[in-house]
Amino acid sequence: MEQQSVATGHQPEEQENLDVLVSTQTVIKKALDKLGYPDPVYNLLKEPLRVLTVRIPVRMDDGTVKVFTGYRAQHNDAVGPTKGGVRFHPDVTESEVKALSIWMSLKAGIVDLPYGGGKGGIVCDPRNMSFRELERLSRGYVRAISQVVGPTKDIPAPDVFTNSQIMAWMMDEYSRIREFDSPGFITGKPLVLGGSRGRETATAKGVTLMIREAAKKKGLSMEGARVVIQGFGNAGSFLAKFMHDSGAKVIGISDAYGALHDPDGLDIDYLLDRRDSFGTVTKLFKDTITNQELLELECDILVPAAVENQITAKNAHRIRADIVVEAANGPTTLEATRILDERGILLVPDVLASAGGVTVSYFEWVQNNQGYYWSEDEVEQKLEDIMVRAFENVYRTSQNRRVDMRLAAYMVGVRKMAEASRFRGWV
Ligand code: NAD
Repeated sequence: MEQQSVATGHQPEEQENLDVLVSTQTVIKKALDKLGYPDPVYNLLKEPLRVLTVRIPVRMDDGTVKVFTGYRAQHNDAVGPTKGGVRFHPDVTESEVKALSIWMSLKAGIVDLPYGGGKGGIVCDPRNMSFRELERLSRGYVRAISQVVGPTKDIPAPDVFTNSQIMAWMMDEYSRIREFDSPGFITGKPLVLGGSRGRETATAKGVTLMIREAAKKKGLSMEGARVVIQGFGNAGSFLAKFMHDSGAKVIGISDAYGALHDPDGLDIDYLLDRRDSFGTVTKLFKDTITNQELLELECDILVPAAVENQITAKNAHRIRADIVVEAANGPTTLEATRILDERGILLVPDVLASAGGVTVSYFEWVQNNQGYYWSEDEVEQKLEDIMVRAFENVYRTSQNRRVDMRLAAYMVGVRKMAEASRFRGWV
């Protein structure tokens, strides 16, 4: 199955593969082939080195015990410790966690951090759990994975439906187990526990920089540019704010329940004020459109910032944006990537566009290790330097090697890990 899709490359619409692990493997194979690496390198990198499955018993508020399933995947630690978020979501699967860990390796390679990729997840729905149940689940997860994680082994962070409070509980639990204070065990912590200034908004800041750089390449001014954003959570809502503040016009936003559209620009400050902690705001309005309609709105910049497989072979022909910047992980399928590229739409792929989060997580870890903390300006300047350099590197590779931006990003991202694995004598 996997070999078949790696070999076929393009897929007719009816057979489009929506498995994010298979599509990631497909592009890794192409990138390694382009770079001239032999098969053993692909065989090493196509799956994580380690995947741990854990069962976590949690005493619920009503006195019953519920047992949750969790995962931690460590893709490749040739470059350095693995790093990546923990997702709390009912749809978490082992395959998705594996793909997400590979993407983290690629992101670390693209922005040139001394890490490999890791990712974790728990199958649960935090929207239906109390504060204390979430605390017990977070602590139970850390106890279950404590043998394989640590500040120099594998460093977790927030992801979908996890936040700085959950990171604080996890750090506290790990510090108790190890019997010393371990702020470098996890990033995305509250400031008072060693968090970094600028971490909360880092992904959106990074996406903003990527939009700016892509707009320059397209000769598009940000002043008055029409922006559509799918998803109004951590990534999407801060991005809407930054876009609004930079003079762009945010004409569409959405959440899991629907989308809002105003060609004259939405009142972003009002929407930010009214959204809940899960990024929901459209329920408050009657006059909504669907997420599919939102994606097909005429605009200059489209930013999927919600979930996977949103732009597919079915709707890629109907996308009416000049630039698509993927803040979410895996929102565009490979077939849709090809269609957008053919149509001259500039796509900034997820592994580049959303690397601002892991970059500032890296800054947080460095500050924890040094015990010396930076100003917000310092964080932002360093983030800008790294992200702009990464964009140029990927864009240049795409132009010079005549490949789409996704393949170019994978070529840049996979190289360091492949080289490090070779120097270590693994392949
Ligand atoms: P979040 O949970 O804070 O917000 C998700 C948003 O998407 C919410 O508004 C939710 O209502 C909406 N949504 C959920 N299902 C949807 C659907 N089927 N259709 C439309 N909207 C839907 O999550 P987040 O942290 O903002 O992450 C969003 C994406 O960005 C994910 O793919 C995540 O992996 C990626 N990402 C986030 C970060 C980060 O630092 N937060 C970093 C890198 C990548």
